[in-house]
Amino acid sequence: MELLIRAARIIDPASGADFIGDIRISGEVIANIGKELPPEAGVREISGRGLVAAPGLVDLHVHLRDPGQTEKEDILSGCRAAAAGGVTSLLCMPNTVPAVDSPETVRYIRDKAKDADAHVYVAAAVSRGLLGTQPCDWRALREAGAAALSDDGRPVLDTRVMAKAMKAAPGLGLTVCAHCEELSLSAGGKINEGAVSAQLGIPGVPAAAEDCGTAREIALAAAYGVPVHICHVSTGNSVAMVRDAKRRGVPVTAETAPHYFALTERELLKRDADFRMSPPLRTEEDRLAVCEGLRDGTIDAIATDHAPHTPGEKADFLAAPNGVVGMETSLAAGITCLVETGVLTLPQLLYRMTRGPAQILGISAGVLCKGAIADLILFDPNEKWTVDPAKLHGKSRNAVFKGRELTGRVKLTVCGGRIVSGGTD
Ligand SMILES: [Zn+2]
Ligand SMILES: [Zn+2]
Repeated sequence: MELLIRAARIIDPASGADFIGDIRISGEVIANIGKELPPEAGVREISGRGLVAAPGLVDLHVHLRDPGQTEKEDILSGCRAAAAGGVTSLLCMPNTVPAVDSPETVRYIRDKAKDADAHVYVAAAVSRGLLGTQPCDWRALREAGAAALSDDGRPVLDTRVMAKAMKAAPGLGLTVCAHCEELSLSAGGKINEGAVSAQLGIPGVPAAAEDCGTAREIALAAAYGVPVHICHVSTGNSVAMVRDAKRRGVPVTAETAPHYFALTERELLKRDADFRMSPPLRTEEDRLAVCEGLRDGTIDAIATDHAPHTPGEKADFLAAPNGVVGMETSLAAGITCLVETGVLTLPQLLYRMTRGPAQILGISAGVLCKGAIADLILFDPNEKWTVDPAKLHGKSRNAVFKGRELTGRVKLTVCGGRIVSGGTD
């Protein structure tokens, strides 16, 4: 692709660059960035006036449901949703059918993703069948192309297996992503345990279920001096534990998801299963603590935990599986709930959605500079739009921001030098 984007506000959060300029894309790379680049014959020009150009978003937590549950999503549809939301790199989770616990399944995903509209990185399972007891052959998974290890959907049941994975991962170049949950505390729970669960008479998942899991992973990271990445932080106590661990030099990183900084358990009063996910929406106090964690850098990354389920599965409030889709609304949710409210500046938000997560995964993405791969987005930071689930690009409709007006809309997504969304004027 030969492309020249004109007069956009260029924000590269990694370098701190923030200026009005032009971006020249040639083939798969950013050939030049500067002020008033010369026009070239045969090069398509796109106006970036009034728009922000930023690195493509990096989403560390996505469920593509492929193989095995392609009625919910598949690799190609999930990546279309990614492109529509400005996500150019994503890490997909291993709780597929079968689970991503063999080199064959890692290779299946990577082969199918070659034709997808986003770069797909694979989180392989820590344990066979995600049962939490028998370690997978992590070296073989790495050699097949896995980028991370996780039993997401569940915690790694056996603490000894988790410790072994965390100790092995750095030497293999793998990031360990931890779903923190003490199952004996969360069993049977449907929503956050608290005022709303009491009012509705529904069994709850206490914040302590997540916090016990967070404490375990931090204890292992501290004991062995090895990194761990904490997934989808939703409680004030887990934010505090990560903050304290970082102060002590423990190599821990953390992500949260838009629903945890935007919404609270009060949404459940509507008895709509689209607002049920794991961990559940918490209290206003937790929400504010998550915002503060994002503000002070305790939380390094915003990931969506994009978890598609069909409308049929989501029809029954209590029987429905956990999960919400999120890749098409994450940037707008961040602008609306973090930037417009003064929690983060726009460059700070972009850092937590680009370079922050890229560093956790150890990939070169998340930068917007000359010579980098052309993964970038153009978005209108001021456009207001109302989320219509019928217009989403993925296969499922379980969006928590449905019907809500958000600010900020992605206009163009370029992935590997190819326009994968927008650009038709
Ligand atoms: Zn999880
Ligand atoms: Zn997940």
